[in-house]
Amino acid sequence: MHQLPGAWQRTARGAGLLAPDGSSVPTIFAEMSALAAATGALNLGQGFPDEDGPAPVLEAARDAIARGVNQYAPGRGFPDLLSAIAEHQRRFYGLELDPQREVLVTVGATEALAATLLALIDSPDDEVVVFEPYYDSYAACVALSGAKLVPVPLRWPDFQPDLEQLASAITDRTRVILVNDPHNPTGTVFSREVLDEVVRLAHRHDAIIVTDEVYEHLVFEGPHVPIATLPGAAERTLTISSAGKTFSLTGWKTGWVTGPAELVTAVLAVKQFLTYVGGSPFQPAIAVGLRLPDAFFASVASEMAEKAQLLGTGLRAAGFEVSTPGGSYFTVVDAAPLGATDADAFCRELPARAGVVGIPLTAFVSPAHRDRYATLVRFAACKRVDVLADAAERLAGMTVT
Ligand code: PMP
Ligand code: GLN
Repeated sequence: MHQLPGAWQRTARGAGLLAPDGSSVPTIFAEMSALAAATGALNLGQGFPDEDGPAPVLEAARDAIARGVNQYAPGRGFPDLLSAIAEHQRRFYGLELDPQREVLVTVGATEALAATLLALIDSPDDEVVVFEPYYDSYAACVALSGAKLVPVPLRWPDFQPDLEQLASAITDRTRVILVNDPHNPTGTVFSREVLDEVVRLAHRHDAIIVTDEVYEHLVFEGPHVPIATLPGAAERTLTISSAGKTFSLTGWKTGWVTGPAELVTAVLAVKQFLTYVGGSPFQPAIAVGLRLPDAFFASVASEMAEKAQLLGTGLRAAGFEVSTPGGSYFTVVDAAPLGATDADAFCRELPARAGVVGIPLTAFVSPAHRDRYATLVRFAACKRVDVLADAAERLAGMTVT
């Protein structure tokens, strides 16, 4: 069949989703959630909670609809949400932002990432340095932008990068250093040494730091240290976050970008033609969420830490080697002790063998580096305690092939 030309091809190829016959296949998240639904397996694959977020936030969205907040929001976001985001950055991190110029509301962190990369990249010679394994949209958007992806490996079991490898990956061709902290899919929280080195290298090579901190409130032994708070970082850093993880509202797709006015305005120039704006009634509700008392945010972190612990104990009992996450929804295991030689094949068989779904880490790496992560699997802990206990029991009773 004649192949439809277009940028979709390099986007799909970048994400590892271009099939040998030239068609594009669904993301690993779509595929594994469909597998869970089809088999009735417990879905510890795609990271979404199975409980609703805070009642006052849900109520505020209903109230906004009832009050008639149903037309387009302003391009940057409603002023009250812009202020609430700036207040949040000051309250938790001491970062001072001008809400009107240094904050932009987006359709989730996903749109923020896409708009940011498309806004900043200008030439096929530009390079974007990422930590590998990486969240799937990074490679897709870098490929769409036409730039080159330069991965720096994170190494089992603590998933910190080697500082020399980091230094050699970042050069004068580096346009963006894309950080994700806490990190998906590994659950790692980068050491202060790594963050300092990123800032030092960004200065030396005049690169922009883009940091995805959607798991900022899911750091188990806090506090979370945004890279923008490091000396010399704020002036060249765009910070991306989202309501999805903090408030268990992944379906609301409301995120934001903060940073220097010139950079935020550059992102807006692209963002306004991707979606213009997202759903209006969510914005006042997220403003309520961001202003919840400290106790709420502390409980988000402590509850997820307990769940991660429960999941880790279950996975160890089932015979996996388990990496200890510092934050996020995720725990990575090595399935080799259970006979796995290929995480992808293992995850496809897991619903039948154990009634549980996980995600192979090989879905988050470039094809040339699959061997490094060949038997590693990501499980999500963002589920009810009884679901995690059930999953642990099922995995412990897994049939060995
Ligand atoms: N970045 C990371 C690291 C994520 O894990 C996710 C989603 N789970 C996103 C971005 C996307 O966030 P959103 O749903 O707000 O678009
Ligand atoms: N961020 C979620 C995860 O890592 C998935 C989001 C998506 O499906 N794009 O599981």
